[in-house]
Amino acid sequence: MAVGPAVTVAQRWETRSFLPVLVDALSGAEADEEVQRLVEAFGGEPASVAEHCLGEPVNRVRKLRFSSGGEIVLYDGAVVGAILHVEPTAGCPGVVDLGQWIAGATNAATLDELKAALELPVRFAGFSSPYVAVGHGYACFRFIRRDGSGGWKEPGNLARIVVTGKAPGLAMLDGDECPTCSDLLVRGERGVDVDATIGQLEAAVSSQAIAEDAHWVTLGDLTAIHASGLVARAESQLRCRTCRRVICLTLYRDGPATFGYHVRDDAMLRPMEPIPPVEQWGSAERIAMAQAAMQYVDHEPGCWFLVRQGDALYFDARYSLGVADDSALIELNGEEREGYRIGGRSYLAELAKRMQRRPAGRRGSPYYSRDLSRRGGEAGRDYRGEFSAAITDDTWQAEQRARRALSATSSSVEPSAADWPTTPD
Ligand SMILES: [Zn+2]
Repeated sequence: MAVGPAVTVAQRWETRSFLPVLVDALSGAEADEEVQRLVEAFGGEPASVAEHCLGEPVNRVRKLRFSSGGEIVLYDGAVVGAILHVEPTAGCPGVVDLGQWIAGATNAATLDELKAALELPVRFAGFSSPYVAVGHGYACFRFIRRDGSGGWKEPGNLARIVVTGKAPGLAMLDGDECPTCSDLLVRGERGVDVDATIGQLEAAVSSQAIAEDAHWVTLGDLTAIHASGLVARAESQLRCRTCRRVICLTLYRDGPATFGYHVRDDAMLRPMEPIPPVEQWGSAERIAMAQAAMQYVDHEPGCWFLVRQGDALYFDARYSLGVADDSALIELNGEEREGYRIGGRSYLAELAKRMQRRPAGRRGSPYYSRDLSRRGGEAGRDYRGEFSAAITDDTWQAEQRARRALSATSSSVEPSAADWPTTPD
């Protein structure tokens, strides 16, 4: 007997939830049949329609909000997401009755209950972003981590379910009206007004609304590096402390500047060119500043880094606490400096091993109180930032990016604290 075509058995999420209606609308235009079906499912006429522009080149964002608690988000005329609001949000009048959308779920559902109701494996795109794959889309469960609450483990913390076509970690539709960072782009006659935008960003950095990522070009250097013509693209990245999105301001040698918002995993994977030596593009003042700053001396890939500043030597060694990797930055003391003078790299390898055996992340480790990235050292001094700036274009950074890229695409287990953003709030 001939073997017939494989019979596809419909999955529970397809038959026992209305999520397929949300998934089918993805990437459609507002007039498309699939989108209109979702509009009907949300109750017909939207209670409000909000529109705004995002970034440069401009994304035209349009949000249809329904009193049923549903929301449809369009970028440049195509649906990029559909949201089931379980908690009321600004501009969205109602909340859904989740039981009507997913059989067996309630508005107080925990992650385990959603998992059971949909019979789908849960994956994570970062500590606070569990999601499931639904057909050609993804359903991300946004839980609120209220103080002292167990997040997704306890009932009552589910805020909304966001269905997107882009992998979670690369989609951010529910944060794009952040009051802190949405007005930082200044448009000129032809796209980004670079100087004015840098001014806005610098003001936001000094008021601590956003933070510069020292792995990228600093705002202060951006125009000088771009003007040198030595790089095809120069980019500054800044993270909003409110919505956690990363702002990327990019100046191109052969094209107009761009200004965009990205999620962390996406921003980390953007192309990064090595920054040419400051002597090739900096002013005399800037060169003098660089000479006074921490400077790269040596490193062992994946293991340790040595930088110097004046007479001081700073040593950064990676260690592992179970599943979480971290690193400790210490200033070498007299004994260690002498050890390095005599033993060179092999002494540093030994020191790195010692620091791995007594990880600085544990109280009781002799390196706990010496870790400058932990205790901050002199008041107001950002040792970790200075160190990162000294090794910006080095291989360890490239490794870190590759490692994170890998973990961003393959994480299917409950993540550890290492998945929290590394920059302090
Ligand atoms: Zn923001």
